[in-house]
Amino acid sequence: MHMNICLLPGDGIGPEIVTQGTKVLDAVARRFGHTVSTSSALIGGAAIDATGSPLPDATVEACRTSDAVLLGAVGGPKWDDLPSEKRPEKGLLGIRKALGLFANLRPAALFPELAGACLLRADIAAAGLDLVVVRELTGDVYFGQPAGIETRDGLRTGFNTMIYDEDEVRRIARVAFDTARARKRRVCSVDKANVLATSRLWREVVEEVARDYPDVELSHMYVDNAAMQLVRWPAQFDVIVTGNLFGDILSDEAAVITGSIGMLPSASMGSGGPALFEPIHGSAPDIAGQDKANPIATILSVGMMLRLGFGLTAEADAIDTAVRRVLAEGYRTGDIMENGRTLVGTVSMGNLIAERI
Ligand code: NAD
Repeated sequence: MHMNICLLPGDGIGPEIVTQGTKVLDAVARRFGHTVSTSSALIGGAAIDATGSPLPDATVEACRTSDAVLLGAVGGPKWDDLPSEKRPEKGLLGIRKALGLFANLRPAALFPELAGACLLRADIAAAGLDLVVVRELTGDVYFGQPAGIETRDGLRTGFNTMIYDEDEVRRIARVAFDTARARKRRVCSVDKANVLATSRLWREVVEEVARDYPDVELSHMYVDNAAMQLVRWPAQFDVIVTGNLFGDILSDEAAVITGSIGMLPSASMGSGGPALFEPIHGSAPDIAGQDKANPIATILSVGMMLRLGFGLTAEADAIDTAVRRVLAEGYRTGDIMENGRTLVGTVSMGNLIAERI
């Protein structure tokens, strides 16, 4: 297979980790007989410095004509004082919108080799943590209109609109059920149907979609309970599907309990066009350019790209296995370092994983 990948390295540690990601991708291509061509485009602060815009038109075009997009991270103190329309983060929101990426998939898995980093009690961690949060990305209270701040009866009043139509719920539910089919076949839909009309429609539509997936078990959970259950007994979850607002919070919660932000990949998918793969962490300006960043989240994002973007399961599994081997052999970047392990930098970690593909 030929893969045409658009790279968006971005800012801070972005270029360093994306280089390690492509190194591993090249190793996979060599082993499995695929070919890869990559092009690099500007986003975020790097794009602001070069063109004045966090998302130049040429970048959108380069992404649209690719098979998949691999992004590093955007942002940094240099651009923090710009008006919100001109900030690096606008580039990220803009590219998700331009590519119609409505589904965000964030696996949170605890590598047994890193159990010591997990924030949960040892007996809870030992039961395992291997779930995916499927978050709707383009709707909900973040985009619903009307929204604003105005004076009502002499009081400053802020308001947003929580809104989903059935088509939006149906398509994200399908992503969740399809994801579950490739895993443990369990979907937990998270809502607040005891209070919110939006959630009552959400639940109704998710149940309709579930009829097309009799082999997948569906459960429902209120969001407040889900927030508790994630730390109380995360082993109960396989796929969690939820709206934009609840997903924003729960996906961060699921990520942080694994204890290693530098290890977690993500995918943002639309209907048909190129999907975007990126680590969940930011541009880590505090360690940028020092060969300290953990490239594993980006390397695992390449794995998600192979699995979800190209349907190459064996190739994706090879990446997961290589990462596990390097961890089992005791190699660690600074963020996951423990006594008795071997500290390595960004480039060495990339080399070690690529060599084991
Ligand atoms: P961050 O994720 O960049 O960093 C948080 C902490 O985690 C830092 O101490 C950092 O050194 C560490 N860290 C992050 N990734 C690491 C890695 N791969 N290896 C080792 N350590 C790692 O979050 P922040 O400090 O809140 O934000 C920094 C900048 O990144 C801001 O400008 C923010 O807007 C931006 N940001 C971008 C994205 C994105 O591009 N998707 C996401 C979050 C934050």
